[in-house]
Amino acid sequence: MTLRMVAGRPIAEDAEDLRHWLSSLTGCPSVTRAVLATCEEPVHDEPLTWFYVEADAQAGVARRRCLGCGRTRHLLDSEEHWTAPHMWQCPGCGQSIAEVAVGLHEADDRVEWVVVAARCVECGMISGLTDVLVDRLPLDEVLSRI
Ligand SMILES: [Zn+2]
Ligand SMILES: [Zn+2]
Repeated sequence: MTLRMVAGRPIAEDAEDLRHWLSSLTGCPSVTRAVLATCEEPVHDEPLTWFYVEADAQAGVARRRCLGCGRTRHLLDSEEHWTAPHMWQCPGCGQSIAEVAVGLHEADDRVEWVVVAARCVECGMISGLTDVLVDRLPLDEVLSRI
């Protein structure tokens, strides 16, 4: 793992570093699993990992739009209480394309907490996007809705 800090913000070399960063968060429920968000629409030869993201940390909602096919996916039940936040922009370089990873806190095979972070594909800066308490959902269900 090769995290550097620039002006107090972590910089990740690649998506793997983003997952490591989520797994090492402190001051919150422990992240027991960190998953890179992908778009696996049949139009893609292989899963894509570049997205535009919108997230509201206060409301605990997020969604991402695949750069390749334009398909939008909401995090969990975000669509039901969507607050129309601004599109994420990298605080380091200002552009808006990100890799997205989701950290999960699991207990007894149930997911209790979800945290979402983005990595700027241009400069590598990591941004925390939002986190959501989850009502002990099965892992498979959560993985299908991130
Ligand atoms: Zn896609
Ligand atoms: Zn950037």
